[in-house]
Amino acid sequence: MEFIDLKSQYKLVKSDILESINDVLNHGQYIMGPEVKELESKLAKYVNQRYCISCSSGTDALLIALMAMDVCPGDAVFTTPFTYVATVEVISLLGATPVFVDIDPKTFNISTDLLEESVLSVIAKKELTPKAIIPVDLFGLPADYRKLNTISLKYNLPIVEDGAQGFGGSIDGKKSCSFGHISTTSFFPAKPLGGYGDGGAIFTNDTKLHNIMKSIRVHGKGIDKYDNIRIGLNGRLDTIQAAVLIQKLSIFDEELHKKEEIANTYSRLLSSHFAVPYIPDLYTSSWAQYSILAKNSEHRDNCMNKLRNEGIPSVIYYQIPLHLQKAYSYLGYKRGDFKISEDISDRIFSLPMHAYLSENEIFKISEILKY
Ligand SMILES: *Cc1c(COP(=O)(O)O)cnc(C)c1O
Repeated sequence: MEFIDLKSQYKLVKSDILESINDVLNHGQYIMGPEVKELESKLAKYVNQRYCISCSSGTDALLIALMAMDVCPGDAVFTTPFTYVATVEVISLLGATPVFVDIDPKTFNISTDLLEESVLSVIAKKELTPKAIIPVDLFGLPADYRKLNTISLKYNLPIVEDGAQGFGGSIDGKKSCSFGHISTTSFFPAKPLGGYGDGGAIFTNDTKLHNIMKSIRVHGKGIDKYDNIRIGLNGRLDTIQAAVLIQKLSIFDEELHKKEEIANTYSRLLSSHFAVPYIPDLYTSSWAQYSILAKNSEHRDNCMNKLRNEGIPSVIYYQIPLHLQKAYSYLGYKRGDFKISEDISDRIFSLPMHAYLSENEIFKISEILKY
């Protein structure tokens, strides 16, 4: 059994994908070919944002967004320690200070109450300038943007939505990757919309930021890449990846729908024995992961071993919260600082989740876990 079954998906779209890759090989515009523009306009339309800038990865998407907002040393950027390392890495790379805020125990997304406390405490200390908030749409569930927007307005802190896992989710019909002043996503193969290599995208409605980010994506270009008006990077998406993603986008909603049904079946079968994912009213998840909570870490080990013995993969996202990782020890946090993230890290594990999981497989997994 596959954790995320990219092979079944490939079989389904094989001829379309081979044809569109072949088109790229024939026209030969490997960098910024016509497929890149086509994908960008389709993605902008999908999430209902004025601009989409495709780029080299979800990490570079975040980096470009923060560079465009002039995030620099002395700035505080608020995010959670319960995320993939890339969210925090980009803050540190720019010399700014990641300020961690613990998560909500039900959604695993940033706690808005604790966020406001943290902003106030940074303001009171006067050592750092509060600069931005990076909420993460963890496992595919959008963060609480209603409350986040209130805090954003009150303290004049722009939101960079890390929608690397969120693409496809929604709140009251409004799509993920449309909630930030800038929103970003990733096309890493295992993400909800995955390419056949690295890739990412940035979304905004802000014309000024859009122009700056387009320039940063190509070495800080002015008129062209030999006219350098700011410091940038090589952050383009390959034309071949754009061609693949256009085909994958055409089956994306169908896959989302199937994953929604699979999640519902899992939750119906497992809710008596585990804490299953909590989806607030009006929210939908893109089901980047289907993650459940065991009673404690021994219970989790036991469950994962039983699955492994039956050839069923399961994975822990995330075993070590970022405030306890060696690379971020310089921030001075210690065990006990973010108790909810630490507790969830000890108990969480993710089950196979993809549109091609059969009902029998879901039943089998659930039976193994329960008995
Ligand atoms: C995957 C991921 C990223 C980084 O995306 P890449 O394309 O792998 O660089 C950033 N944030 C989160 C939450 C992610 O899951």
